[in-house]
Amino acid sequence: MKRSMLAMGLACGMFTVATVHAAPQQDVYDAVEQQRQPLLDTLETLVNIDSGTGYVAGLSEIEALLTERLEALGAEVEAHPAENFGGNTLVGRLQGNGDRNIMLMIHYDTVFGEGTAKDRPFRIEEGRAYGPGVGDAKGGVAVILHSLEVLKTLGFDDYGQLTVVLNPDEEKGSLGSRDLIQQLSADQDAVLVFEPTFSEGATDAVTVVTKGINYAFLEVKGRASHAGGAPEQGRNAIMELSHQLLQLGDLGDPDKETTLNWTIVEGGSKRNVIPEHAQAEGDMRYVDSSEYERVLNEARDITANQLIDDTEVEFRLDKGRPPLPGNPQTQALAEQAQKIYQELDRELLAAEIGGGTDAAYAYHADSPTPAVLESLGLVGGGYHSDEEYVQLDSVVPRLYLTTRMIMELSDAETED
Ligand SMILES: [Zn+2]
Repeated sequence: MKRSMLAMGLACGMFTVATVHAAPQQDVYDAVEQQRQPLLDTLETLVNIDSGTGYVAGLSEIEALLTERLEALGAEVEAHPAENFGGNTLVGRLQGNGDRNIMLMIHYDTVFGEGTAKDRPFRIEEGRAYGPGVGDAKGGVAVILHSLEVLKTLGFDDYGQLTVVLNPDEEKGSLGSRDLIQQLSADQDAVLVFEPTFSEGATDAVTVVTKGINYAFLEVKGRASHAGGAPEQGRNAIMELSHQLLQLGDLGDPDKETTLNWTIVEGGSKRNVIPEHAQAEGDMRYVDSSEYERVLNEARDITANQLIDDTEVEFRLDKGRPPLPGNPQTQALAEQAQKIYQELDRELLAAEIGGGTDAAYAYHADSPTPAVLESLGLVGGGYHSDEEYVQLDSVVPRLYLTTRMIMELSDAETED
């Protein structure tokens, strides 16, 4: 399938397939319903332990709890330190009797500092659960653990190996766990990622495209002089920077969904001094990997045209998280998820989001495997805010979805 065609289809943002009513698999559904309350109990426990990125005391407490849970499910658990961040990435492996390898992945750190859980602990109100990290992404941790409980109840072990990866540094870019994620994901047939839904208005959706992010820097060196006595001897870095920013205004490309927005400007020191230094920072989002080179080259060409002689202009583009671009394997998993939702007579959207997640590290652009699908956690909203919540009525559908995805992926024909 041509990637460009697919990207065009995905560019429409969200779509669904026609609804065909089918009944749920009753034994699975019954086992899922039995896990509803236990999942909420797990979620309460997790939310009430602070685990901001780098807060080692809280991260360790959660690590101990998750290790115990995974071992009780029959997994062998390893801990890999997240360099420079503190905390460990937990890798739990369950051996089955089949030959398909599936990875279930999510982070257990949050953006909230020590004391947040005490100030506003887990609470349930009008069909929603609230608390720090309840959706992003402790709900996802709970969905993984309790889907595995459902499989255990059903005695299902037709998978080859299930690998559970729980990392402690996602909210700071996963720099201490991304190599491990890339390495572990390479051996998988499918990787399911359990961030919450990101759509507006708590819409029930999975994510099929996440944008990559790069950081743009523009720096101008001029020459200082007295603004009253000898302005002509100065070289005004702010004037040159302004000229460059206006020239660089359209580095984005709407057709490719690339944006570059300048968001920070600094320059000058005293009102009576011609500024010798000015700089700006910009936020680039993209889905097409070739856009890094294009933007870098165009920016360097454009900045060669200077307004003020004898100023020095430097443009830099630092790489952040890569994108999860639209691709046929992800699309196939999304369609599979939509069909499973139809068994519950529910609609599931396939969404594109502007942010980046660890799903991008699990995606291997040069290989058809693994197939990667994002946002299998709970349905919610208000992430990173005091109002963060998840919808209680999403617990059963989401547990059913993950359980059935694992069952179907395990039984899939192996492609040669
Ligand atoms: Zn998250």
